[in-house]
Amino acid sequence: MKKNFDVIIAGGGPAGLSAAIIAARNKCDTLLVESSKAFGYPIHDSGATFSEAIKDFNLSKGVITNRIDGVTIVSPKGYVVSTKLGEGIGYILERRELNRELAKIAANEGVEIKMPVKAVSPILSNGFVAGLQTKELIGGDNIEYKSKLVIDATGVNAVIAKAVGIHPGMSNIRWAIGAEYEMTNVELDNPNFIELYFGSQIAPSGYGWIFPKGDGVANVGVGITHISNERINPFKYLSRFIKEYPVTSKKLKNAQPLEYHVGILPIGPMFDQIVSDGLMIVGDAACQVSPHLGEGIRFVMKAGEIAGEVAVDAINKNNTSKNNLTQYEKQVKKEIYPNYRLLYKIHEYACSKDDESWERTIKHIENLIESNSGKKLIIKAVRGDISKWDFFTNTHILAFKGIKKILGQKWM
Ligand SMILES: Cc1cc2nc3c(=O)[nH]c(=O)nc-3n(C[C@H](O)[C@H](O)[C@H](O)COP(=O)(O)OP(=O)(O)OC[C@H]3O[C@@H](n4cnc5c(N)ncnc54)[C@H](O)[C@@H]3O)c2cc1C
Repeated sequence: MKKNFDVIIAGGGPAGLSAAIIAARNKCDTLLVESSKAFGYPIHDSGATFSEAIKDFNLSKGVITNRIDGVTIVSPKGYVVSTKLGEGIGYILERRELNRELAKIAANEGVEIKMPVKAVSPILSNGFVAGLQTKELIGGDNIEYKSKLVIDATGVNAVIAKAVGIHPGMSNIRWAIGAEYEMTNVELDNPNFIELYFGSQIAPSGYGWIFPKGDGVANVGVGITHISNERINPFKYLSRFIKEYPVTSKKLKNAQPLEYHVGILPIGPMFDQIVSDGLMIVGDAACQVSPHLGEGIRFVMKAGEIAGEVAVDAINKNNTSKNNLTQYEKQVKKEIYPNYRLLYKIHEYACSKDDESWERTIKHIENLIESNSGKKLIIKAVRGDISKWDFFTNTHILAFKGIKKILGQKWM
């Protein structure tokens, strides 16, 4: 059995698979270990993304379950604001299919895949990560694989990052917990609009959602940020959202569950250090989701691609030192999150809002989307493309007034 590789990737989610594809495509001898019995199983997210995810990563239509054209936002008291944002601006992905498609591409590029195999700990040599200790989950064998470079893409587990001490620990980051049912017989006002619900009774410091998948099927969920030390029971909020909240209980009166999904989302702040000698961390393991909305898929895939490119460069130069790998850190900040601080502030601000303040905010959003410039600004904000500069440009002067009301004076 082959036990030496250029690059080993721990974790076969969107981040790890994207890194593996780039590394293998560029002639690196690449191993990927995945602890689950199937790619994309169990599902732990809702699969909502912008259309760029399909174009930028050359994905097939097979990963799409529904087209998204607009959004409906609902206040704690049930005030509804609905707007078209653009035909096909986003998609709901078939999450299992996304990971399967990426795994097939990886296999075609020559990645060796081992599953269900758990990455247990790093092998260290002269201070460098030089491979992985793994455990075969069928058969129980412990196997050592050696490599010049390891990429930790194990999601919230961040197994290798924690072992080498570059993960600050879950108690030092903000995280959210989400629970959702995929349901059938959901009665939607518009089958191509996502619905977002705000309020302390729905999802404190978070939001509830209905993401339509077509044919009366939708993902119905809640995501709650863990801010106080109080234990959060997302299932309790989800049940209330489905059965008791007046707006949703009407739409869901005939709905029945098809699947239950639950997951933890590391929100941030994104780590400053995501490399070490012989190691890069990517995706949820490095807190690379957009902090203001918790959208991760397209961001972690981009980060995975950058990690893959930097891995290729490091292998070709025979230099996997931390110093050489810092180009990955720099590129993530520059290419994915030039405005990360602003997005994180939006997250903090949203978490601090009470129900009355959400009522006002949702009415301001309604005013804002009446103008084209306001709508464009909202789209930029949701995408995570917004910058401080957007607040000051003349073209967005009307929108600026609205946003200023939403965010308050303190950031202006
Ligand atoms: C409730 C919820 C809803 C969400 N909704 C959305 C959404 O609608 N849109 C969006 O864009 N993002 C969403 N996200 C965020 C998105 O799910 C993540 O950002 C994204 O999946 C991160 O990808 P990843 O590859 O870094 O990690 P993961 O997808 O978690 O993949 C990690 C992989 O590593 C494997 N693994 C773990 N430990 C080991 C180990 N020790 N050894 C080997 N393999 C291991 C796991 O089995 C898994 O396959 C949501 C998250 C949650 C929690």
